[in-house]
Amino acid sequence: MKMKRLFVAAALMIVSVGAALAQEMQLPEIPMDPQVRYGKLDNGLTYYIRHNEYPERVANFYIAQRVGSIQEEESQRGLAHFLEHMAFNGSDHFPGNGIIDYTRTLGVEFGSNLNAYTSIDQTVYRVCDVPTARQSALDSCLLILKDWSNGLKLQKKEIVKERDVVHNEWRMGEGPTQRMIQRALPKAYPGSKYGERMPIGLMSVIDNFKPKTLKQYYQKWYRPDNQAIIVVGDVDVDHIEAEIKRLFGGIKVPANAAQVVAEPVPDNKEAIYIFEKDKEMPQNLAFVMMKTDPVPDEVKRTDAYFIQSYAVSVASRMLNARFNELTQDAECPFVQAQADYGQYLLSKTKDNFEIMVYPKEGKDLEALKAVVRECKRIKEHGFTATEYERAKADYLASVEKQYTNRNKRKNAEFGDAYRDHYLDAEPIPTMEYTYEKVNMYVPMLNVDIINQMVAEYFTNSQENLVVMEWAREADGLSYPTEAQMKTAVEAAQAEAVEAYVDNVKDEPLITEENMPQKGSIVKESENKTLGYKELKLSNGATVILKKTDFKDDEVRMQAFSKGGKSLYGESDYSNLKFFDEVIGYSGIGNFSSTELQKALAGKNCNADANMGVTRQYVNAHSTPKDLETMMQMAYLYFTNVSKDEKSFANLKSQLELALKNQHLQPQAVFSDTLTNMMYAYNPRFAQPKVEDLDKMDYDRILAIAKDRYKNAGQFTFVIVGNFDEQTIRPLIEQYIAALPATGDKPDQFRDVRTMPTGKKVNHFTMKTDQPNAMSYLIWMNKLPYTLENIVKMDAAGQLLSQIYLATIREEESAAYTCGAVGGFDLSGTDAMARLIAVSQGNPEKNARAVELLYKGIRDNAQKLDADALQKVKAYMLKQADEDAKNNAKWINIITTWKDYGLDTYTNYKKTVEALTPQSMQQFLQTMLNSGSQIECVMMPEAKE
Ligand SMILES: [Zn+2]
Repeated sequence: MKMKRLFVAAALMIVSVGAALAQEMQLPEIPMDPQVRYGKLDNGLTYYIRHNEYPERVANFYIAQRVGSIQEEESQRGLAHFLEHMAFNGSDHFPGNGIIDYTRTLGVEFGSNLNAYTSIDQTVYRVCDVPTARQSALDSCLLILKDWSNGLKLQKKEIVKERDVVHNEWRMGEGPTQRMIQRALPKAYPGSKYGERMPIGLMSVIDNFKPKTLKQYYQKWYRPDNQAIIVVGDVDVDHIEAEIKRLFGGIKVPANAAQVVAEPVPDNKEAIYIFEKDKEMPQNLAFVMMKTDPVPDEVKRTDAYFIQSYAVSVASRMLNARFNELTQDAECPFVQAQADYGQYLLSKTKDNFEIMVYPKEGKDLEALKAVVRECKRIKEHGFTATEYERAKADYLASVEKQYTNRNKRKNAEFGDAYRDHYLDAEPIPTMEYTYEKVNMYVPMLNVDIINQMVAEYFTNSQENLVVMEWAREADGLSYPTEAQMKTAVEAAQAEAVEAYVDNVKDEPLITEENMPQKGSIVKESENKTLGYKELKLSNGATVILKKTDFKDDEVRMQAFSKGGKSLYGESDYSNLKFFDEVIGYSGIGNFSSTELQKALAGKNCNADANMGVTRQYVNAHSTPKDLETMMQMAYLYFTNVSKDEKSFANLKSQLELALKNQHLQPQAVFSDTLTNMMYAYNPRFAQPKVEDLDKMDYDRILAIAKDRYKNAGQFTFVIVGNFDEQTIRPLIEQYIAALPATGDKPDQFRDVRTMPTGKKVNHFTMKTDQPNAMSYLIWMNKLPYTLENIVKMDAAGQLLSQIYLATIREEESAAYTCGAVGGFDLSGTDAMARLIAVSQGNPEKNARAVELLYKGIRDNAQKLDADALQKVKAYMLKQADEDAKNNAKWINIITTWKDYGLDTYTNYKKTVEALTPQSMQQFLQTMLNSGSQIECVMMPEAKE
């Protein structure tokens, strides 16, 4: 034991002293998971291949490049990202939109399964969920990676078309935060290129660059020695490896190739204070960032990294718990504060402990002081042993959860891990190794060691401190100056602080004497079609048990019954709008909301009460281990939601800040108008407003909760996941069968939904600095809620999305975002089918975009694009296989069956296969002919 302690002390020293000692100390290296085939070709190309059967019969393909916008010259600002767009616009083996078209035939959807991103120091492309049945499909995906690596055409005519697309993307992102980041970065990075290289770049470059300039970037940086190929899935590893060697082995790296060099971030002796304001910023936000050197790669390779990651993780947890507790005090100057350890803003060459804080109005400087004071408190007094025990228990529980599910890790999880190994030297051991080491080291690290370790991350001086605020600009508001921010921070640093006192309630959620009288299971039956057992309980409640092995660490439960918000009238509208939040912020049993969080330390479970228009729910999830705690929480939501005035006051101030300035946000204004149109201006369905907060009555909300959950006999509890039946049955009797029931007949909901009739058109303008137009077209129709109609609605949305992407975005660059989605509104007696078509982008081209939205649906109602339908079907069939192994989807399938008598599972694939161009054509006609339609368009209007 003593030996081990010494060993850990050595590890700790390495963490603090750094790389130089790492080799000398000889901590064990973290071994790479032997299941991954890892290699490097002579030209420097790195590859990772792993066979994985979760999910079965699909694979993911990635190419990761360790270059991004930081490599751009001044004349290239924005071109790393522009190049990423060009990767889908013509290459050696896939001319035009060939990559998008080809992968769609495999059921791979552009934008989700087929996608890419560009950041400041990396560019990653992916093709995911490719069916592995045909080897030729896999070989084609490797060919796509090959084309991306060095076979892009970059044709002039394609570049010209894409300028508008990228310009539109900039418009979409051009909100207040984007504007302020751009102004703030040069100040946050004095003397560093990081201040001048936001990936979106300069529109003067995007609109005018010469194709040659783009080619220069491509040829200079996209080279095998800057690239990694990653393939994970149900594949033959040897074959993939041979193909990678064959396809990529011949690519040459020029003799004098430019090297990727790390861009340093200088330390700052004096604190940096940055203040930015913007008229469209809805609420103020400040950051306190304490810069530190990143963990050296040498340390990441050894076990020391487990200890470092653990220390910063528990420190963040403990600090966040303290912040949360502070907000319960009415005098607290902020509504929310959140701490995290990670990369300093954009740069991986510098880390930081970052605290983000939302000040109450007019309390900006006080909020900064409060945060700085907490940092000082930690530096001087550390954390307490009881806080640490909870954070430790939480950490170990999360590692335990991952370990439990180690044999069901998804392709995407491996893909991301290998990417991070290549780009950031993150270790990739087996889950067994991590589990074993974490459980070896953590018990040796007491709170004093952790306090010593983390003290150095918290500054109480000006050195390497960056304090930034983003504020809302408006007439009559006063703002702190950077000088005042400095004075406030320095004053807080000079204050005397006392140690934190941890108040904990040391009792179980339900005490012995409060343990309810057990009920019993009175009847049992089985549903062979959907594979579940149905139990009838002594209090009248129904429980459905479906055991699955999709995830070893997951059990989900949903309880539902009819009634919901529809049973309450106009005087309760404001209460109903915040019902879920208020109940979520309340206590349960003897526990206040803060005490509850402390009591749940080390548990992986949660429960919530939620209310819909026509139904009320309790939703819960857990690991198999914490099932009983989950059941207790659910029991308490039914029987004993307790008033927590402090937590309620905090929620109210959070909501107030969030809602107060919504009229400044184009998205919020648009969504408000659209919702009003969809429900014929019925105030019951209107979006929550700040005025609603004053009408909210906490006692009344608790009374509504009591009323909705008083009769457990009318509820059906659907439980899906990896539970042990012998364990769960007594828990069901102890907690669910014990719930009070009134013996009354089940409630029914009232039909309170209102819908517009005929065609409603609303074009309006909003004064905004965001040069972005938004258009929604919605077709509505009362249709029978059948499997066939569900499938057709979904297919219609996907089909139109394909058409819109090709016409609106790719051919005419009339909008950056466009698409369609189909679904049902079930908040009334009749099921209401809704088909929604959307475009967002350049205001000058908006009229054309709207024209094309109409044209797409009308043309296809006349003559449907059979080729596009084929691709939609391929995607839906593949998705069905994935959904069949998803616990949450099964909750949905079973509730739909129990609630509507509709089996959406058994004949799903058959129904998809039966779709024909004719039947879909007719379906679109039905939607068009219903005559109920909304056209809502918002155009930006320049401020004077
Ligand atoms: Zn983009």
